Amino acid sequence: MRIFTASLATETNTFSPVPTDMHAFRAAFYAEPGEHPDTPTLCSSVVPILRRRGRAEDFTVIEGTSCWAEPAGLIQRRTYETLRDRILDELKAALPVDGVVLGLHGAMVAQGYDDPEGDFLSKVRAIVGPDVLIAAEFDPHSHLTALRLASLDLMATFLEFPHTDFEQRGEHVVDLALRALREGFKPVISTFDCRMITIYPTSREPMRSFVDRLKTLEGKDGIASISVIHGFMAGDVPDMGTRIVVVTDDAREKGDALASALGHELYRMRRQTAMPMLDTEAGLDRALELRAARPDKPVVIADVWDNPGGGVAGDATHILRRMIERGLDDIAVATIWDPVAVSFCHAAGEGAELDLRIGGKSGPQGGEPLDLRVRVERVVDAGWQSFRNSRVTLGSAAVVRPVGTAIDIVLITSRTQTYEPDIFSNLGIDFSAKAMLLVKSTNHFHAGFQPVASEIVYIAAPTSYPTDPATTPYRKASLELWPRVADPLGLES
Ligand SMILES: [Zn+2]
Repeated sequence: MRIFTASLATETNTFSPVPTDMHAFRAAFYAEPGEHPDTPTLCSSVVPILRRRGRAEDFTVIEGTSCWAEPAGLIQRRTYETLRDRILDELKAALPVDGVVLGLHGAMVAQGYDDPEGDFLSKVRAIVGPDVLIAAEFDPHSHLTALRLASLDLMATFLEFPHTDFEQRGEHVVDLALRALREGFKPVISTFDCRMITIYPTSREPMRSFVDRLKTLEGKDGIASISVIHGFMAGDVPDMGTRIVVVTDDAREKGDALASALGHELYRMRRQTAMPMLDTEAGLDRALELRAARPDKPVVIADVWDNPGGGVAGDATHILRRMIERGLDDIAVATIWDPVAVSFCHAAGEGAELDLRIGGKSGPQGGEPLDLRVRVERVVDAGWQSFRNSRVTLGSAAVVRPVGTAIDIVLITSRTQTYEPDIFSNLGIDFSAKAMLLVKSTNHFHAGFQPVASEIVYIAAPTSYPTDPATTPYRKASLELWPRVADPLGLES
């Protein structure tokens, strides 16, 4: 048995001012065939999993290229086509194969391509023919298109948001693919379109119980897999929106019925799934109250929408500016993306004091740059943080402290959201002794920071992210979705 595997992934925020090119893939994660590390990355875990299982279970795995770019704006056409054709050429060279298992994200958009994954999968199908199994793992913040479904035999997304289960779900996809190839499992995909878009953190109710129940339904009565495509509201493409995906063992009617039932259930919860968010002033007031009540651990403040993981630049200054203006102190901030400021810090050296312009350079929406007199506390050539078992690069990085304060600000060159507290400790910042931690992340930070936080405050501050689908100026996405339409499925009239 021969299986080809590869990964081509990023998440495209079509509203982002940060274009995506080949350098963005090379800078974030790029592994030549056979060079994928044994540790998984968010969208490529199927590659090391198949490598390990191929050795253990005596089948042949042919690895293609794996790459990931930090979420950002539209992918340059030549970049997408080059990466696509590279992997397709690797697949052709690997023939004959019995199966193809891919690690995708599912929310890529390139210049001239609203559905790159559909384009890619249809070309994979054309190369291998109708009888070879094609399976893929997706991020739930993705889009689902007819072109993808026409090319795929089976698929699954991560169920958790934060995506703490990306590796387990990679294992799940590999398991299903191997069952189909070795044991006569006949995967059939059923889907349901919920006609809505919002966010679905599973760190809180009602999604926590919903996802727990999905897990109990999987693997029984011919139901092989259940996924929720949350959708990605910053991707303006025709198929943007929430979907349910059920994979059965050759039981289409049953799969269709379950997808529809679960879709209706999720639809009825649509007004409750997002976490409560405060504006900047109310959020800082709340953080101060919480700190006064529980001084033993830091209050964690999430800058929810200036999240590079959602494709924005991650250089908004709005919350930090208000913290400084209000005289708040004893804070650690991760991160502000600012390659120019980092290069100045490296040139000045550790211990130097200088006037530094920080953040606010990618556009006006996240606030003006901050002009501060700072001391350079730390410079490193290759900063990093964990996300579960994977390692996420910060690139060249610096820690600066405005003179006269105990505010430590992490400046980075490789855009990433804040995942885990070691983003601070790796740079020598004692985060546990701080009054407040300001992180840029919608909810992925929750898994790592909840254990070290007294409380978490979600602040919705100004940013370039399209935060309200009811008013976002979509040009391609369907406008017949909740919250633009009160009850698109017509269940409440
Ligand atoms: Zn995601």
